[in-house]
Amino acid sequence: MLPGRDLGAASAKWERIQRHLRDEFGDAVFKSWLRPLTLGQAEGGEIVLFVPTRFMRDWVDRHYMDRIRRRWNEEDPAVRSVQIRVHRGKSPPSAVTSRTPAGEGAGAAEQSAAEGQADISAPLDPRLTFENFVVGKSNELAYAAARRVAEATTVPFNPLFLYGGVGLGKTHLMHAITWHIRARDPSRRVIYLSAEKFMYQFIRALRYRNTMAFKDQFRSVDVLMIDDVQFISGRETTQEEFFHTFNALVDQNRQIVISADKSPSDLEGMKERMRSRLGWGLVADIHQTDYELRLSILQAKADHLEASVPLKVLEFLAHKIVSNVRELEGALNRVVAHATLVGRDITLEATQEVLHDLLRANDRRVTIEEIQKRVAEHFNIRIADMHSARRARAVARPRQVAMYLAKQLTSRSLPEIGRKFGGRDHTTVMHAVRKVEELRSGDSDFSEDVELLRRMIES
Ligand code: ADP
Ligand code: MG
Repeated sequence: MLPGRDLGAASAKWERIQRHLRDEFGDAVFKSWLRPLTLGQAEGGEIVLFVPTRFMRDWVDRHYMDRIRRRWNEEDPAVRSVQIRVHRGKSPPSAVTSRTPAGEGAGAAEQSAAEGQADISAPLDPRLTFENFVVGKSNELAYAAARRVAEATTVPFNPLFLYGGVGLGKTHLMHAITWHIRARDPSRRVIYLSAEKFMYQFIRALRYRNTMAFKDQFRSVDVLMIDDVQFISGRETTQEEFFHTFNALVDQNRQIVISADKSPSDLEGMKERMRSRLGWGLVADIHQTDYELRLSILQAKADHLEASVPLKVLEFLAHKIVSNVRELEGALNRVVAHATLVGRDITLEATQEVLHDLLRANDRRVTIEEIQKRVAEHFNIRIADMHSARRARAVARPRQVAMYLAKQLTSRSLPEIGRKFGGRDHTTVMHAVRKVEELRSGDSDFSEDVELLRRMIES
């Protein structure tokens, strides 16, 4: 049979299948994931469906392919295989391209770009300004770099890459840059958005085939800031698009500011050329806070809240809440809110009571390094053997115990734990955890040993 006729007959079947799928999965899922599928080929019992992006392909493959295959088989028992393939093409519908029609004067194009900007830039928090940012050793480089970008009239370095753990002020600095630029020169276009939003918008643009409009949004921007870029690692199509947008803007000498939870070279799942490109400008990391900075931040926030908090309480908080600034802030807010509510002064006792869950959580924060050290001491082996490839029982067993305790006492994932043990695989960690559990249930001496270690590490 001619392929063309095959396709014609298959089309009718595919339409019926789509109706079934819509009934089965509901409108929302259907619109997002199933309607964009098109019938690409139908030959000799082999069906190929097209999707516009790899991301969608993976998603549909994982979540809906079983059902789709079953439906095909019901529709046509001669169908032997159903594949899904990425296929771009088909020009965008005119409704979309007409937003920026060619040759229609700069006014219209500009207006449309402004609309795009209004669309895409995330709302800004008015509290996140440079004035409200407390500078200390751990963040002074990031702060200086952010100010430099905000005040510059020519691009000082591109991109500015800010990185650091959660709650340490990356988003704060990015908002501050935006506020500063908007206040000083409202004609400059600044777009701030999360990488997730960037990804979401891009996928939507692909789905509705209006990537042109998507790109236009960025074309006229002076400063583009993308927050938490680690979220686009692993998403290849989005990464590609990001890379193109990035390069185009850099070529036009526009400022780009990026944040992430890791340095460019540690961004896993990010293509090598992208990682290296991200590191070309200024890379500024924000370290964990030290005691002095935490105390200054608390003082500033207490002033801001116009609450009279005894220095002793602030010092106590700065000592105890070491995780990040967000938690520190949250703790102070809770203490102040409580005092206002019950109409009493803030005291150390009241603080301990109000925060007792939080304080406990901060107490229990044990690091994998500590665990390795304690376990190595206990079993009388070298700490280096925690990372080494040696498999002798005398070192392998303690190593397994340390992995087991790391799983028990920290919130680290198996792959993270594996990395801390000389780059081992997560399955190795899983195996270690099971092994120790097994040994503990069969050997009470061993079990007590481990229990003792656990208590020692926790105390
Ligand atoms: P990140 O984006 O790095 O996860 P945020 O910028 O959201 O962290 O910061 C978390 C909270 O801590 C915000 O409320 C922010 O205002 C505050 N914060 C962080 N660093 C500072 C600082 N140096 N001075 C004042 N507030 C800070
Ligand atoms: Mg953030």
